[in-house]
Amino acid sequence: MVVIEPSYQRVLDEVYDDVLPVIGQGVVATSIHALAQVDPARFGIALATPAGEVFGAGEFQAPFSIQSIAKVFSFGLVLAADDQIWKRIGHEPSADPYNSLVQLERHRGIPRNPFLNAGALVTADRLLGLTGDAVAELLGFVRGESGNHSVIVDRAVAASELANCHRNAALAHLIADFGNLDHPVHVVLEQYVAQCALAMSCADVALAARFLANGGLRSNGSRLMPPADVKRLNATMLVCGMYDRAGEAAYRFGLPAKSGIGGGIVAVVPGRCVLCVWSPGLDASGNSVAGVAALESFSARTGWSVF
Ligand code: GLU
Repeated sequence: MVVIEPSYQRVLDEVYDDVLPVIGQGVVATSIHALAQVDPARFGIALATPAGEVFGAGEFQAPFSIQSIAKVFSFGLVLAADDQIWKRIGHEPSADPYNSLVQLERHRGIPRNPFLNAGALVTADRLLGLTGDAVAELLGFVRGESGNHSVIVDRAVAASELANCHRNAALAHLIADFGNLDHPVHVVLEQYVAQCALAMSCADVALAARFLANGGLRSNGSRLMPPADVKRLNATMLVCGMYDRAGEAAYRFGLPAKSGIGGGIVAVVPGRCVLCVWSPGLDASGNSVAGVAALESFSARTGWSVF
């Protein structure tokens, strides 16, 4: 049934009921040792309105490792300051895994999009150049927008990733070899893994991403970026944000979204709201099984998608 003006809380409660059978399916990420310890059967979902109201179900206030969801915030901050960034990073989807080296060689060090690890390394490099401290800038942004000043970088998760980041180091060296990094590889890697290690709740993420649903306005009403840039960012999320299953995600729930291997997904209903769902059991592409199911249920129950 299509709901025209939904009671958000009721819809989220129904979505939670819908996905109960699949919570716990999938496997937790093992590439980062600290994430391999998380229980795959956890689940939370939050919805934030542009005005800052929050609704939630399950463990929507529990912090989790946002991992690649951070790519949306860091790229947003760079785009807001420098729309020439598109010369250093493309906006085409990739059918290869998020940490693949293959296309980077072929495209001479220009990552195919900002949501692959290669793209996020160039983003971290640019944000560092713009601000002097990409992590501090990002932390300040998500704390300010979410209103939660206890958001932290989980240093144990960052250290755990840094201790085993040969593939990201290989990507960064290849990018540097093609002249697309301004800072030393080890500095960019440290900044990148720290960003991925942000610990935030579904409520925090949904609130912090409101500029995507709000035409580029920050929570205080000031402009982060023009509507045309938000359109481009949301479009890039739609075609590139769900690893190599962006087509499947568009087919199932039809919203711009970004996934992280911590099991989180942020999804945008332009002009209406932002959703964040978290459940650590992942499918073979790295997307949360229950998370995708929840977004599909939300879209079906509300009739909302960008299509
Ligand atoms: N820090 C993770 C990595 O670089 C992020 C992966 C992800 O969430 O997509 O592998």
